[in-house]
Amino acid sequence: MSAEPEFPFRFTPRMRKRLSRRVIDMLLNALGEFPELKGKTITVGYTSAHLGSALVPLREEAAARLTIRLKVRKLTYNTIGHEFTHLLQGLSKIHFKAGKATEAMPFGEKQCDIWTLARSPLFLDDAPTYIRLPRAMREDWPRYAKAVRRLCIAALKKRRTHRLYMQWLEAKIKELAKRPVEPKAGEQIGLPF
Ligand SMILES: [Zn+2]
Repeated sequence: MSAEPEFPFRFTPRMRKRLSRRVIDMLLNALGEFPELKGKTITVGYTSAHLGSALVPLREEAAARLTIRLKVRKLTYNTIGHEFTHLLQGLSKIHFKAGKATEAMPFGEKQCDIWTLARSPLFLDDAPTYIRLPRAMREDWPRYAKAVRRLCIAALKKRRTHRLYMQWLEAKIKELAKRPVEPKAGEQIGLPF
């Protein structure tokens, strides 16, 4: 992260108490997958109620005070990526309204999961919360993660011409769960730890 001119996070006092090197490294690694957030300062607070949450910025003033909250225990890249994607949902809408972009990312939780998984394999370390997954797949997520990510990427292409791309995605995921997946010896998803 040597290209980062300033430390990109500001931590609330509650978060500071729970902060560890591991959490900071995870935040920095995750941020590296979001060039759109480069140069911005993100306030990171603590929540015990959810895995995480984000204040989706709806106006320019809010865009200057980007805020997410995270639960530190069992923190995953998937959660961090999901909350960063919420920030982009707001920012891309603001840019779109200002005429600075030709299209905006849609709001919504399921949409947030799809865009997060499509963005980077880094965010495959845990199953998404809102995309409907067959139970067998949720329980054996590492085996399906890459294939689901490929489907998410395909769904985003599909979205250009297909309004029901989320239904399409969930139908494909259901099909995938029915197909036997060969476990490869020593197969693991690529995580930087
Ligand atoms: Zn969310």
